[in-house]
Amino acid sequence: MTLRKPGPGDKLAYFTRRTLAGNCAIMVWKFEDEDLANIEYTCPHCKKSGEKQQLFEREKKRMEIKGKKKTVDAFTFACDNCGKEISLEKWVKKGRKKAE
Ligand SMILES: [Zn+2]
Repeated sequence: MTLRKPGPGDKLAYFTRRTLAGNCAIMVWKFEDEDLANIEYTCPHCKKSGEKQQLFEREKKRMEIKGKKKTVDAFTFACDNCGKEISLEKWVKKGRKKAE
């Protein structure tokens, strides 16, 4: 499967690029007129890279963020190679005190 990358003329409902522990890069984007989010990832568990699409839903997750356990809204997907979960906590924009 090859995901369609966002281009200059595309309207995106969501876009994030993160770097997780171990330099694993994850990019998630969703086009405005589509239901599925596109995910390009390097798995922090097995270090394999992959691509997938899934419904964009957030759920409450207990995660450790900067050494503190917190319950956050997170987008979770499973690695196609090792099956382990990869969670991205909700993006909080810099310069804003309250999350959306
Ligand atoms: Zn994996």
